[in-house]
Amino acid sequence: MNARVLRPEGRSPYVLICDHASNSVPEELGNLGLPESELARHIGWDIGAAGVTEVLSEIFDAPAVLCQTSRLVIDCNRQMAARDLIPAISDGTVVPGNADLTEAAKLDRIERWFRPYHDAVENVLVRREAEGLATILVSIHSMTPSLGNSARPWQVALSSYQDRSLADPLLAALREPGDVVVGDNEPYDLDPAVDYSTPFHALRRGLPHLQVEFRQDEVATAAGQRAWARRLATALSSLPR
Ligand SMILES: [Zn+2]
Repeated sequence: MNARVLRPEGRSPYVLICDHASNSVPEELGNLGLPESELARHIGWDIGAAGVTEVLSEIFDAPAVLCQTSRLVIDCNRQMAARDLIPAISDGTVVPGNADLTEAAKLDRIERWFRPYHDAVENVLVRREAEGLATILVSIHSMTPSLGNSARPWQVALSSYQDRSLADPLLAALREPGDVVVGDNEPYDLDPAVDYSTPFHALRRGLPHLQVEFRQDEVATAAGQRAWARRLATALSSLPR
């Protein structure tokens, strides 16, 4: 179903999603014509994001849904009409397997790899609604340490839209120890015209939500993933209820 679901019955208010958890490409797509070294780069996935999500799920007993296909096959956090839904070029790398796709081929990718992931998220949320459980949707991403010539100073960043009711106190909590640089809608904001997952699953339902980006050099190792998951968990646990 193109999703790995952890602790679907978890009792935490947090439901974690990880759109770019995996760099795997279905065998029939032949690595999209790319060498493994390209798939291993950030263009293939959000390096470290799956590990952070797994640890957070464990800490909170939180349901987590992780996409199992590379964002180069189809980007599960893009609106279906977006040009970079199935990128023909990504950060300077031409993706041969995505060149000149027919409408039928695009629809096939949507049906096979985009919808099943989002259906898995829906399943978790709908069941919780039916059970009357409160839900806070937390979307976990990672970002490159630099883009072009500019280095990114933020070890962690929150992307928000109009509802900052959780983002504001979480920003304060993350900044409180004074030893990290925390981005507030830098380098990315949450944009319903661009992003798909948080708008579709949280904004549409009026669910409280957070979208978190970790800088990839901070979460490249299992130790880094664990440390950052714990730091985020501590900050979340300090929020007023
Ligand atoms: Zn991402």
